[in-house]
Amino acid sequence: MAENVEITVGARGADWSPAARVRGLGTSVFTEMTELARSTGAVNLGQGVPELDAPAALLRDVAETVLAGGNQYPPAHGFPALREAVAAHQLRRYGLSYDPRDEVLVTTGATEALAAALLGLCDPGDEAIAFDPCYDAYPAGARFAGARLVPVPLAEDGDGFVLDADALRAAVTRRTRVLLLNTPHNPTGKVFTDGELAAVAEVCREHDLTVVTDEVYEHLVYDGAGHRTIAALPGMRERTLTVSSAGKTFNVTGWKVGWVCGPAHLVAAVAAAKQFLTYASGTPYQEALARALGGVEEWAAELRAALRRNRDLLSEGLARAGLRPLRADAGYFVQADIRAWGHADGVRFCRELPLHAGVVAIPTSAFQMRPDAPSYLVRFSFCRREKSVVEAVEKLVAAM
Ligand SMILES: *Cc1c(COP(=O)(O)O)cnc(C)c1O
Repeated sequence: MAENVEITVGARGADWSPAARVRGLGTSVFTEMTELARSTGAVNLGQGVPELDAPAALLRDVAETVLAGGNQYPPAHGFPALREAVAAHQLRRYGLSYDPRDEVLVTTGATEALAAALLGLCDPGDEAIAFDPCYDAYPAGARFAGARLVPVPLAEDGDGFVLDADALRAAVTRRTRVLLLNTPHNPTGKVFTDGELAAVAEVCREHDLTVVTDEVYEHLVYDGAGHRTIAALPGMRERTLTVSSAGKTFNVTGWKVGWVCGPAHLVAAVAAAKQFLTYASGTPYQEALARALGGVEEWAAELRAALRRNRDLLSEGLARAGLRPLRADAGYFVQADIRAWGHADGVRFCRELPLHAGVVAIPTSAFQMRPDAPSYLVRFSFCRREKSVVEAVEKLVAAM
């Protein structure tokens, strides 16, 4: 576990230790579980790495772009054609108009956009609020910025999670600068409802908070009304940075092309940090994605159908195996309650599962900031080939 990693040797002697801002970030449970999958040959439903194909035309376009010489630095803010395609995408889908010249910034994945946003918006001692559980890059990014990440628990409600608006209100202080929102949400698969988004927006307007909304699963909503963005609510466009990425939408998580849209002054703050993190990256990918993004709806409909089928197979299978699945309306993951198997500790369960059942999962505690958060949930990914999902389910049923 990360907390136990001690780096004690090096040129500066036995008392050497890394900077406080990275202490304890050594090896994550993701690395441990990926290694267990490799060493045991278990079916890996741990990390959210797609096994599904990317659009063939997009792959060919990248290859041709590379051969045609598209291999040098892109413009610092991203290729104009991609910024225009992102702006067109936001207008078409959400009715939000952004100027591609200074209200759209291309980043090295959503991860860099999130880190650069926290670095660009928070001074040391400031506070950022995030819903707990959350994507593990948020606490790390806040820490790098010297900010305190304040967790607001999502409340478990039946087979899903709901916003606790009172807890959100209670978490706001004079130092709160940023609210980190993630919808559709990883690891729960929750889609914030219109009512919840309105309640979050009200708190942000009232306390003059900037919202950084992570919407990398915007195209992967399987049930209900589909994706809504908080930036489209009254008074929110001017205080919201919307982050997304090509990785999850096109099954190209290794390309690391993301983007952020928002009012020019907020985007400029992100760009100021971003230029000295990577400057710019991904020339052939950016060029090809600029051409692909216009047709994303057709592609995403196909991908959603495959993922929805996998989600259903996994949820039904978990239920058959006696591991109560929680509702997942979107994204890549289903969480399961391990208590019926006589377990209460997800970390221990996930360490034993590859040997006991031949399946790898990730404990939800890897996404939790509160020490008192429940430890009985584990996360299974279904962004895999249908065959892998079916095989994992069979193994779980056999091991129950
Ligand atoms: C995968 C993921 C990211 C990272 O996106 P990249 O474009 O690969 O950097 C960010 N946020 C969430 C919630 C994710 O699941």
